[in-house]
Amino acid sequence: MARYTGPVCKLCRREGQKLFLKGQKCYTEKCPVERRNYPPGQHGPAQARRRKQSDYAVQLREKQRVKRMYGLNEQQFRNLFQRAAREDGVTGANLLINLERRLDNAIFRLGLASSRNQARQLVRHRHVEVNGTTVDIPSYQVRAGDDIAVRTGSKEMEVLDVNLASRTRPALVEWLTLDEKKRVARVVRMPTRDDIPMDIQEQLIVELYSK
Ligand code: SF4
Repeated sequence: MARYTGPVCKLCRREGQKLFLKGQKCYTEKCPVERRNYPPGQHGPAQARRRKQSDYAVQLREKQRVKRMYGLNEQQFRNLFQRAAREDGVTGANLLINLERRLDNAIFRLGLASSRNQARQLVRHRHVEVNGTTVDIPSYQVRAGDDIAVRTGSKEMEVLDVNLASRTRPALVEWLTLDEKKRVARVVRMPTRDDIPMDIQEQLIVELYSK
């Protein structure tokens, strides 16, 4: 499925915050959000000065922010929302949990990749296996009990060493365990809404799609 291949820093500037789409570079002073914190384009500074946003604009921005954070396009995101709405429980929480369960996100959360984009590439390039079978589908939904591993021929890749040793590597989430030496991980339980360490108002997304 087609995905966004344009400049990612523009997306952060549009949302007015760091979405950490470029891995290590996001932690340097060169981050454009720090230098030019207004929307991109000719009218960006004027947009930043505008006083009040409509309810629709607030909902749209929240949806765009989450969608861009996880690197999905509109159709993928909407499909995931519709699936979340069919599941038992709270739709907004289901949506976020399904986003967390994506294989590319799990690789990112494990610290094997410095960004979800890089995690997606590791999966697409067949460096990852789940329960002993190579999986090259970034949207693959992991389940409790799954074993996620870097494939035997890929375990020594330098990028993995760099990412695992990085100072900016986030703390490991509770629903995953990782054996750093063997580069083998396990999904110990399904993630819950409380496991998602990001400030997201998922109710705004539900309201937007329920119009
Ligand atoms: Fe976003 Fe990272 Fe670019 Fe900063 S460097 S604007 S956080 S992608």
